[in-house]
Amino acid sequence: MNTTDALIRVEQVTRCFPLDHSAVTALDRLSLAVEAGEFLAISGPSGSGKSTLLNLIGCIDKPTSGRILIEGVDTTRLSPSQASVLRREKIGFVFQTFNLIPVFTAAENVEFPLLVQGFDRSERRRRVSEALEGVGLTARAHHRPDLLSGGERQRVAIARAIVHRPALVLADEPTANLDTRNATQLIDLMRDLNRSLGLTFIFSTHDQRLLEHTPRIVRLTDGHIESDSYPATGANSTGPSFGSLEGASHGKVPAACVS
Ligand code: ADP
Ligand code: MG
Repeated sequence: MNTTDALIRVEQVTRCFPLDHSAVTALDRLSLAVEAGEFLAISGPSGSGKSTLLNLIGCIDKPTSGRILIEGVDTTRLSPSQASVLRREKIGFVFQTFNLIPVFTAAENVEFPLLVQGFDRSERRRRVSEALEGVGLTARAHHRPDLLSGGERQRVAIARAIVHRPALVLADEPTANLDTRNATQLIDLMRDLNRSLGLTFIFSTHDQRLLEHTPRIVRLTDGHIESDSYPATGANSTGPSFGSLEGASHGKVPAACVS
């Protein structure tokens, strides 16, 4: 791997979904580079392609055309089992609906990815208590999700996403089921973990109020990058490496989608 390479490189990615006799173009020749240690928000209205982009970066889905590289590895060429190893080792996922296992305690939910990866018992214990402490839930370790508030459940999900020390955490609308106070606290927690652990976070939201302290915001519209901005520095880029807005309206089927 080239050490100067970005952690993630999305290159001219198009993703189409078949629909009757045509196709929905969820992403249209989108390009994006993310460096290790970034804290990046993907914003945009419902249907703009946020989940599609996160699923592609997370190797849950494959593009119709284009490439996605993680640490220099072209993930679009991996077999399903290779992609699953990469997901397990390098990526932590946080979902809108928390996705905790209801019969497990908070600690058992957080332990689960370590069990899957075969960590021994003492290492699992150490890491679980460290991760729960990191999200401020040590006192709730032995509670099941139904005894936790929405904000606490999502903090358990964050602990589960970071416990195996991934290179990258992907969070798809992690605050959508939280009230404003809990949503703000959750984004602040992710930012603290990003700073203290140097962990790369990419999260999506359509809530503008949550973006106040986000150093970089990529705004999507109809599968394109409308803007890629660094509000703190005032920098803004819509240059060629971030996908051209020309000649591609939503609903128009790019060549890559026509079989
Ligand atoms: P967002 O997360 O920003 O709301 P999505 O990435 O879910 O947007 O969707 C982008 C577009 O792709 C939408 O028009 C959506 O209907 C379409 N789409 C997403 N997933 C599928 C799918 N599995 N099958 C068909 N269309 C899809
Ligand atoms: Mg979505």
